[in-house]
Amino acid sequence: MPLHNGPRDDARALSVNPFLGPANPVGDMTEAPPKHRLPASPMAPSTAYQLVHDELMLDGNARLNLATFVTTWMEPQASVLMAECRDKNMIDKDEYPRTAELERRCVAMLADLWNAPDPSAAVGCSTTGSSEACMLAGMAMKRRWSRRQSAPDARPNLVMGVNVQVCWEKFCTFWEVEPRQVPMEGERFHLDPAAAVELCDENTIGVVGILGSTFDGSYEPVADLCAALDGLQERTGLDIPVHVDGASGAMVAPFLDEDLVWDFRLPRVASVNTSGHKYGLVYPGVGWALWRDADALPEELVFRVNYLGGDMPTFALNFSRPGAQVVAQYYTFLRLGREGYRAVQQAARDVATSLSARIGSLGDFRLLTRGDQLPVFAFTTAPEVTAYDVFDVSRRLRESGWLVPAYTFPAHREDLSVLRVVCRNGFSQDLADMFAEDLTRLLPDLRRQKRPLTHDRNAATGFHH
Ligand SMILES: *Cc1c(COP(=O)(O)O)cnc(C)c1O
Repeated sequence: MPLHNGPRDDARALSVNPFLGPANPVGDMTEAPPKHRLPASPMAPSTAYQLVHDELMLDGNARLNLATFVTTWMEPQASVLMAECRDKNMIDKDEYPRTAELERRCVAMLADLWNAPDPSAAVGCSTTGSSEACMLAGMAMKRRWSRRQSAPDARPNLVMGVNVQVCWEKFCTFWEVEPRQVPMEGERFHLDPAAAVELCDENTIGVVGILGSTFDGSYEPVADLCAALDGLQERTGLDIPVHVDGASGAMVAPFLDEDLVWDFRLPRVASVNTSGHKYGLVYPGVGWALWRDADALPEELVFRVNYLGGDMPTFALNFSRPGAQVVAQYYTFLRLGREGYRAVQQAARDVATSLSARIGSLGDFRLLTRGDQLPVFAFTTAPEVTAYDVFDVSRRLRESGWLVPAYTFPAHREDLSVLRVVCRNGFSQDLADMFAEDLTRLLPDLRRQKRPLTHDRNAATGFHH
């Protein structure tokens, strides 16, 4: 969310349509409500509804938003359940014990899905999303580090790839941890285990592995990272935990890449997060954070709330939070099961790989990834394309309603700008065909440009995390 300022110059009141009055078009709706001040008096609910509804018509169409990882379609039954739970506050464990129970079952299912050695010993919680989950996991790593070090002025650091999602930069800023980022190198767009180990020292609270990267949809090599850290421990005695940021991939890999070992099967993996509202297939916002066992989550970070006469441990940044998303997560787990999730994620991967192949075959583009890890791929213009750039493509695609972000890569590949397509449940093969046709139709026009036309790259760049 942007941090908003107070009233702006456009302090003109909302415009009103005489029809919006509850009954009488001549007299009922004469007073225009101000935009930036609380109106002095109430208005009819139907009028307020229409004013808000009309303003929102200009938002983009969420289903055509190929920039977001977040769920834009759920079944009507899920919407009904969510509506039924709109009034439940997740923190009121004592008042809504069944909602609390569904949360507990979701944690247990995830512990099992992510192969916790003893699922009953794993601890976990729901959050508002992966950002909060990553904050909690980072706090646990920081606290474990501060317990084991004694130098009073030691400054903690966290090692990660430069491709981390912005939440890790937030964590480091908010909790005063030095971020140590492994840059991109050549055609390597994510973390390299050896380079990560190079950055570790006695004040490293942990290393983050990402499954998978928001920049290009690739999985980071978590098992190799753990092996490299095992080597470091043998050489130096430093025992550095790994947190896996599985915001997207922790709900993809267990179904589509069962042989990929990235989770609690690796003893060094202390914690894992995912976004229930990404490939967990629930509307925003729900996320999950799990620790392999109680040792990985220092007890002093856990607070207790009343629960059926006893108390229930909680770990969260917020106090109040909607319960509906957690209920919707449980519904989706129950509804799909492993086979259902596999089918849904495979469909997304099939769309991603076939669409990337089709874009690759146009000749104007070079694929960085193919959508065969996360159902997400990034591509750039081919070296011989000089008439237009990825920012032009992004801008022109908007004309047909498609929201596709274009952005420049971080250190050391600032020379590289890409487009990225996120294929989600609901972006069907049919929609993908229409997208490919729209892109193909633009090309003759783009090729005729004298040079790339986008001057303000920042304005052109959609939010891509
Ligand atoms: C989306 C994402 C996040 C942030 O998750 P939210 O649920 O949007 O807060 C963190 N890490 C990665 C890798 C992501 O893809």
